[in-house]
Amino acid sequence: MTERKKIPFNVACFQGKEVTYFHEAIENAHISGDGPFTRKCHNLLEKELGVPKALLTTSCTHALEMSALLLELVEGDEVILPSFTFVSTVNAFVLRGAKPVFIDIRPDTLNLDESQLDSLITERTRAIVPVHYAGVGCEMDSILNIAQKHNIAVIEDNAHGLFGKYKGKFLGTFGQFATQSFHETKNFTCGEGGALLINDPSYIEAAEIIREKGTNRSQFFRGQVDKYTWVSQGSSYLPSDLLASFLYAQLEFRERIQETRKRIWEAYYSSLQSWARDHGVQLPTVPDHCEQAYHMFYLILPSLEVRRRLIAYLDRLSINAVFHYVPLHLSEMGRSFGGHIGQCPITEDLSDRLLRLPMYYELKPAEQQFVVEALEKFDGWG
Ligand SMILES: *Cc1c(COP(=O)(O)O)cnc(C)c1O
Repeated sequence: MTERKKIPFNVACFQGKEVTYFHEAIENAHISGDGPFTRKCHNLLEKELGVPKALLTTSCTHALEMSALLLELVEGDEVILPSFTFVSTVNAFVLRGAKPVFIDIRPDTLNLDESQLDSLITERTRAIVPVHYAGVGCEMDSILNIAQKHNIAVIEDNAHGLFGKYKGKFLGTFGQFATQSFHETKNFTCGEGGALLINDPSYIEAAEIIREKGTNRSQFFRGQVDKYTWVSQGSSYLPSDLLASFLYAQLEFRERIQETRKRIWEAYYSSLQSWARDHGVQLPTVPDHCEQAYHMFYLILPSLEVRRRLIAYLDRLSINAVFHYVPLHLSEMGRSFGGHIGQCPITEDLSDRLLRLPMYYELKPAEQQFVVEALEKFDGWG
């Protein structure tokens, strides 16, 4: 028997131009932050998405931290966010002393359940953080309505959703801020990286200062002030221009990357329809008013036990399928904020049954077919 290649869960996308631009960045002799490639990335994101300001950051985690700093959150402020998310969504606010208030998700899109927002808002609520899970938009009309009524900020964690849309408008353009990730596991990558999108221009200057160690260096280089100095709290959130050069190559090829991911997603969706129906498996839901970003393909299986057996079975065939978020309200930290079983029942149930299939730019049709056929042959439904 010929040895079959492994099908990993994810392989970082690579276009080829990354190396050329990396060399160019070296030749530019500006490899620290905010060099020519960083500016190219900023311009591309601002023009393409129509946001007033885009700032590359060292990660999505850091863009989230910048959001918390920009809102000047203090001890005891409350932030409403899903329990079904990555730790950074919450940590960024906890670092400022804020209290996370976990909201359950909708059983269809796995996005936060906007109908529960009203009951969680208090005098201390300062922000709502919708996470566009799998790059499918949250119900932004309802979320923004409630936020505006109570004068609460909205920060979109759009790590999965770059170039996705809700009602024809790009994800990341709804909240005061939105955060992007360019981590290896995301649609576009430079290894580690992120961006802060700023939709409320009144925060632009403060964001530039926070990102540049609390100095007005950006204004200085634009000639707006004649010396640069320490003006507020801040840190170092800007990535090297070498990383920006790598990222720019990927953003330039965004259509090809997204079209490839769309083809892969749709092939899974159409070939697994009847299989899913026969075995009580739920496939992803994308509402008609959402254009998704094709970040992931997941299955909701009938039980935790079936998931355990399916992961082991696929592993024996060298196919790497993985589960996802473990509910944050039940983590050690989550429990220290009062998290308990039964608090977010849909999250608790679905996180146990969700399985993500291999999905990456380089996934070949024959490999994908092998994954589909493996699923069809699985008989561990019990
Ligand atoms: C990946 C991810 C992050 C963190 O991104 P980094 O760039 O690795 O900091 C935050 N939130 C969500 C929803 C993510 O998927």
